[in-house]
Amino acid sequence: MRFDIITIFPDFFTGIFGHGVMKRAMTNGLIEAHTHDLRSFTHDRHRTVDDRPFGGGEGMVLKPEPLMDAVESLGIAPKPERDPARESVVLLSAQGSRFTQPVARELSRLERVVFLCGRYEGVDERVNELACDRELSIGDYVLSGGELGAAVIIDAVMRLIPGVLGNQDSSAYESFGDGDEHFPAPGGGSGATPRATHGSGGLLDYPHYTRPPEFRGMAVPEVLAGGDHAAIRKWRRERALEKTFRNRPDLLEKAALSKQDKAFLDKLK
Ligand code: SAH
Repeated sequence: MRFDIITIFPDFFTGIFGHGVMKRAMTNGLIEAHTHDLRSFTHDRHRTVDDRPFGGGEGMVLKPEPLMDAVESLGIAPKPERDPARESVVLLSAQGSRFTQPVARELSRLERVVFLCGRYEGVDERVNELACDRELSIGDYVLSGGELGAAVIIDAVMRLIPGVLGNQDSSAYESFGDGDEHFPAPGGGSGATPRATHGSGGLLDYPHYTRPPEFRGMAVPEVLAGGDHAAIRKWRRERALEKTFRNRPDLLEKAALSKQDKAFLDKLK
């Protein structure tokens, strides 16, 4: 999968691509990421990328010409001919629809994603209409530029690409995972036990522990040290339910819950 990023700060990404899972995925050839300096698509002596807003008001706006030239230099299909199953051009924007794990999954199936990073007050809206397939926001707050947004999206997307994580289950059975997307299984009824024990089926992940067994007077929950796998599964499921109930009750409305899950949640209320 290939990522292209159009930005006035191409160096911003050096550190981001140089660590951990991302670095390994690039070394292994599973992903490619290219940054493109918006200023190299300007034609004036001052390499101007911004201008004052029509209608007045605060700040500056990224001009359309360099952005369109930059997009068109990448060899992707013009918007009307673009195959949405292969390529997508994303505008980072606080006004965008929310970037979530399902959107990450959708993007991870594409061959190529191009990111346009805004700065100042944003980009000339005509660029959005002419070149972009989607406008994405990484959350309900305003950043000073789209670079962090692009980095967040690339990180979340690339770890879903087959082969990037050592264990493919890691990305199915975690917070927001699709591990038990189709739970309850056909014929399973609402009393069935979810296959996954934890953060799948719309729940947050359960808490994790490692050695030492006792740290600053705090012991690892006893059940985890015993070998009773059914008990461990039950404990993890309950902690995932508990965490979701306390931190993100909104997720419970859409979560796949068994009869036992519901009974457990009733006790928490
Ligand atoms: N005037 C805009 C904010 C501009 S912030 C507004 O009020 O909506 C400058 C740039 O930062 C934006 O063009 C966008 O690319 C980026 N940005 C800001 N907040 C963002 C968010 N929540 N998600 C993704 N990108 C964001």
